[in-house]
Amino acid sequence: MEVKINREKIMEGVRLILEGIGIDPNDENFRETPRRIAEFYDELLSPKIGDEDYKYFTSKGDLVIVKDIQVYTLCPHHLLPVFYRVYVAYIPSGKVVGVSKIVRLILDEARRLTLQEQYTENVASKLQELVESSDVMVVVNGIHYCMRMRGVKTPNAEVVTSAIRGKFRDYALRMETMRLMGFE
Ligand SMILES: [Zn+2]
Repeated sequence: MEVKINREKIMEGVRLILEGIGIDPNDENFRETPRRIAEFYDELLSPKIGDEDYKYFTSKGDLVIVKDIQVYTLCPHHLLPVFYRVYVAYIPSGKVVGVSKIVRLILDEARRLTLQEQYTENVASKLQELVESSDVMVVVNGIHYCMRMRGVKTPNAEVVTSAIRGKFRDYALRMETMRLMGFE
């Protein structure tokens, strides 16, 4: 699902939500709220090029791991914040890709409303294309504020998903990769 941001629509919607909870949207404390929220969604959900920042890169032999990429997004069911820590590994097929491209892929995939399971699969598939290798592994650790703040209210719950493809299905390689990713 491609996201096309229409700020006017979002502002209209936020005004309705404010009215729905009994707040006058023209009250001076709330007058700028619709615009602020529209800008926030635009910032969070528009695909971007850039973000060359990355800190984590290790490699060992023919294994490349990029770990602990931190990403904020929103959940599709409640539009509440989700915080991901993303770990990826691949075995280059002769081509090593700049780490910034991998980080950008991880960030861009999060700028759309998807479930964590789908996000993990999407990152794995896009990574396979980017590095031109079918041997990829993706682990995503997610903190979902819709779980923490509402419903069953599980303050410490984290959701871990993985996509394991190609040679990473091998148990020993998968364990070695998990260890290098920092999971013991
Ligand atoms: Zn949710």
